[in-house]
Amino acid sequence: MTIDNSNIDTIVSILEKRIKREAYVTKISKKDKDPFKVLVSTVLSSRTKDEITEEASERLFSVVKKPEDILKLSLSRLENLIYPVGFYKVKAKRLKELSDYLIKKYDGKVPDDLEELLKLPGVGRKTANLVITLAFNKYGICVDTHVHRIVNRWGYVRTKSPVETEVALRKKLPKKYWKKINNLLVVFGKSVCKPVRPMCSSCAISNYCPKIGVKVHS
Ligand code: SF4
Repeated sequence: MTIDNSNIDTIVSILEKRIKREAYVTKISKKDKDPFKVLVSTVLSSRTKDEITEEASERLFSVVKKPEDILKLSLSRLENLIYPVGFYKVKAKRLKELSDYLIKKYDGKVPDDLEELLKLPGVGRKTANLVITLAFNKYGICVDTHVHRIVNRWGYVRTKSPVETEVALRKKLPKKYWKKINNLLVVFGKSVCKPVRPMCSSCAISNYCPKIGVKVHS
């Protein structure tokens, strides 16, 4: 029992049939095609439930269209607009720093290059890859905690950190799945292959999955 490139097409196909929901960041990228909104909502989405990210982002985007708008807001008003996303005070400061940097270095535009995105204050590989794939339709693999955990449970990679997982997936995962793997596994990881007590007994890919490191197969 294993999941590798001999059956990855089957695995993705099974998951795609069951997972129709799109994370808010994916939705807004298709709806507005605005890299700034993708970047901001990605920052807001970290450690935050998707419904909360959606509500806070929509509230913020009703008054903010570009980096200059964020700089015009007082810090407390910005905090109020994005509350109750996780770490909203830290994120409000980060959005101010980000907006300031974008205006000074990139004329208020979000850069469309991974290395340039990584220079932005508070932007790590996860955010940069998501912006590259969703906002600019370029190849990237966004590895967050869900992607990292699930592909290791599958035995598809054997890695110790999301960065190692990204490197391993860039070598192994067929390129046609790079852009879609994040949304697929984030939704799957929140609903079925959860961090604690994954629902293996009702999981559609249980017959293929070696369940590496899973102690209780509920
Ligand atoms: S829920 Fe269980 S069977 Fe399904 S992918 Fe996760 S570890 Fe494998």
